[in-house]
Amino acid sequence: MKFVPAKPNFSRFRPMRLFTAALALFFALLPLCGCAAQEKTETFTAMDTVMTLTVYGGGNALDDAKVLILGLEAELSVTAEGSAIRRLNEEGELELCEDAAALVSEALALCAETDGALDITVYPVVRAWGFTTGDYRVPTEEELSALLPLVDHSAVKMSGSTVTLPAGAMIDLGAVAKGYASDRAAALLREKGVKSAILNLGGNVYALGSKPDGSAWRVGVADPFGEGGTYSLVLSVTDMAVVTSGGYQRYFEQDGVIYRHIIDPETGHPVDNGLASVTIVCEEGLKADALSTALYVMGYEKAVEYWKNHGGFDAVFILNDASIHITEGLESCLASASGEQTPEIIKK
Ligand code: ADP
Ligand code: MG
Repeated sequence: MKFVPAKPNFSRFRPMRLFTAALALFFALLPLCGCAAQEKTETFTAMDTVMTLTVYGGGNALDDAKVLILGLEAELSVTAEGSAIRRLNEEGELELCEDAAALVSEALALCAETDGALDITVYPVVRAWGFTTGDYRVPTEEELSALLPLVDHSAVKMSGSTVTLPAGAMIDLGAVAKGYASDRAAALLREKGVKSAILNLGGNVYALGSKPDGSAWRVGVADPFGEGGTYSLVLSVTDMAVVTSGGYQRYFEQDGVIYRHIIDPETGHPVDNGLASVTIVCEEGLKADALSTALYVMGYEKAVEYWKNHGGFDAVFILNDASIHITEGLESCLASASGEQTPEIIKK
């Protein structure tokens, strides 16, 4: 038998068929467009800050995430009556619920990893400055030196979910709770099928998936010298936490001196080391929150060293001279920079 190569049969080509196919495709896609994930946004106060959650699709997922965050606040707050952390501080020993135990355990590991730049036992000092109540004051040196021996994360003992504090010691999860809450909220949303959400827990941003149109989320890094609502730069991210710690957010002024709410656990004094803000970008909100506080305490040089030695995250450092420095992994995420100076890229 003779092999005859198949020839395209152009005689079969009919414009009507193409038209019918296009029409079928149109109707096939129509329901998809009609069901575009519905946007829901809610703004509320929790953990001493304003939070805005924007969620696409997922039915009641947004309400569930809000309930989850408010529940975490009730457990983790250092001031709320009956919270696990307040009771632990009052009683010195307590078996914690699942979330509080998980967070204390992970926070202690981060305290050790940052060599105590993050130290959740700094609370007696934070309290002496009035930062938790808003009754700001400058404590005397004697008062601070009496409190400093209580600041030692390595003295906190954990056995299962039971935490034991040395006499007089107290913990505060203020530097890590919002990051943890963003991770838990993102996990819950994913479980409910959400593929696109942007969670802003008072400057702790978690970008879940991408925007509904498939493009990356754009997250602004606040200008620490701006009036609010202005950004030093904008990053394009997907499935990333972007968390900023800065002295500009919470502080008080007395006799012309500014006292910021992040304390150097070595000295008991508010941090004042030339850094205006530190932003951490990584996959976990808890780590980003912990490291943004810790690297702010470390100061620029030590913080860059820490990044070089540990990795697993990227950072934006804004110095008091308004210069902006970004670690090399962010170069490709930089959507725009509004500052006078172009950001310096920090290489490994
Ligand atoms: P914010 O809560 O404003 O987002 P941070 O995440 O940096 O900022 O946390 C700062 C809070 O953590 C302070 O208000 C205080 O309660 C507590 N804190 C201050 N200094 C330290 C520190 N060195 N280590 C751990 N917690 C700290
Ligand atoms: Mg923090």
